[in-house]
Amino acid sequence: MAAMDTFVETSRMRRQHLLMVRARKKISSTPVRRLKRLSARERWLAVLERFSRGLDEPLGARIWAPALESASRSRIVEIQEEKLRALMPFLYEESAFYRERMRAARLTPSDIRSVSDLPKFPVVTKESMATNVAAYPPWGTYTTVDHKTWRARGWMVFSTSGTTTTPRSFRYTQVDARLWAITSARALYAMGLRAGDSALTCTNYNPHVFFWSLHYALNLMKVAIVPGGVPTERRLAMIDLYRPTVLVATPSYALHLAVALRNAGIDPRRSSIRKVICGGEAASGIPSTRRRIEQAWDAELHDVYGCTEAVPAGWAFTCREGLSADPVSTHVQEDLQIWELVDPQTLEPVGPGQRGLTVVTNLNSEGSPQLRFLVGDFTSFDTRRCRCGRSFARAVGGFMGRADDLLNIRGLKLFPSAIEEIVRGIDSLDDEFQIVIETEGVLDAFTIVTEARTILDVDAALEVTRRLEAEVIRRCELRPRIRIEAPGTLPRTEFKARRVIDRRVGL
Ligand SMILES: [Zn+2]
Repeated sequence: MAAMDTFVETSRMRRQHLLMVRARKKISSTPVRRLKRLSARERWLAVLERFSRGLDEPLGARIWAPALESASRSRIVEIQEEKLRALMPFLYEESAFYRERMRAARLTPSDIRSVSDLPKFPVVTKESMATNVAAYPPWGTYTTVDHKTWRARGWMVFSTSGTTTTPRSFRYTQVDARLWAITSARALYAMGLRAGDSALTCTNYNPHVFFWSLHYALNLMKVAIVPGGVPTERRLAMIDLYRPTVLVATPSYALHLAVALRNAGIDPRRSSIRKVICGGEAASGIPSTRRRIEQAWDAELHDVYGCTEAVPAGWAFTCREGLSADPVSTHVQEDLQIWELVDPQTLEPVGPGQRGLTVVTNLNSEGSPQLRFLVGDFTSFDTRRCRCGRSFARAVGGFMGRADDLLNIRGLKLFPSAIEEIVRGIDSLDDEFQIVIETEGVLDAFTIVTEARTILDVDAALEVTRRLEAEVIRRCELRPRIRIEAPGTLPRTEFKARRVIDRRVGL
């Protein structure tokens, strides 16, 4: 009987095994056959959907998407490469700009399958996009939205501010709208925003990415919004009446609003604002600016970093723990984007931990998934796990300024943010300043125009002038002229301030 039992059992197992093999063949062959019929766009959209499924609400008490944000470094690379392999055929088929650049580099989509393959593809500059949009107005061919897609699920147009080059426009789809809300919510969640907060957003109805991304994220997070598209006086009233806990503004405007509030007899430190969230300009990375904003509002300052060209990929963001680090650190969202740093001259990748210019590959967009786009800010990355639990790399010291902003004065290179740090580090000077550069004979004349907080007597003005001059010489190795104007002389702006006035002949 025992032998018979064994025989019966063995036959049953064989039969089961055969059935399983057949089933496995069926399972493995069916999707492959089906996948082959999908277009590159459909395959890309399927990847985007899979990695964002179930993330419309937070899955952790402190981290929105713990499986992604706290994944091991090797898992992050796995995710990046899986997305990259779907992205390459999509870009090749849907963007003439990328197809031509791949052909010029003698590459096919299958040549870039891993993060280490990326440097085979030359970085994409703003100038090359500007040339492309001039040849193919108004959209250029560097995005992956065609007329049909735009008509079917167009969402919003964003455009660059055009401060440095021809404005470039980007069409984003309904798919992007959802992805954006989720990824920006992850950033805001790390800053400590929760349902129950309410945010005053100081913006007008403009095509700039910063406010819109936050708007939809706040909606998703059930954080109430006080739409602040009104003049400053009404914003002051809104703070008083509606008691928002969060202020969303550019750093310049956050400072300006605090002054306006004080002038109206209200102490911003006693207002309802507990967090100030900035974008559009560097904030947390410039210590004196950060200190001024935090002190003005008695609030925690956070900021986001990114670019119009490669969204919606959430923003690089300051977590609460990163804020208390010295220097401050800013997380990039690496399951959504691949960040590289390159040498400013050769544009070749720099070694681990070294400073370089930021380059991004966007793995989270239907409308604008750019490949190796040169964003162009100087920083270095720390890939050790943060105290907040996130494993995303952190930009050490945040982002101080774009290479485009770098001034060359008498052969010396200078970031306007360095002057900002110095001016705002002197208490008797107000927040605004300008850098004026002119040609005098064969030399560059470099003047820093500042404002006193209050009317200064001659001795006090001389003392401030000497101090400012000495600090600029010490830190920037340049001797400036200093002009101290009366309070309220320089223009205030709601958005990116124009602080450099370059009147040099031939520029
Ligand atoms: Zn962190």
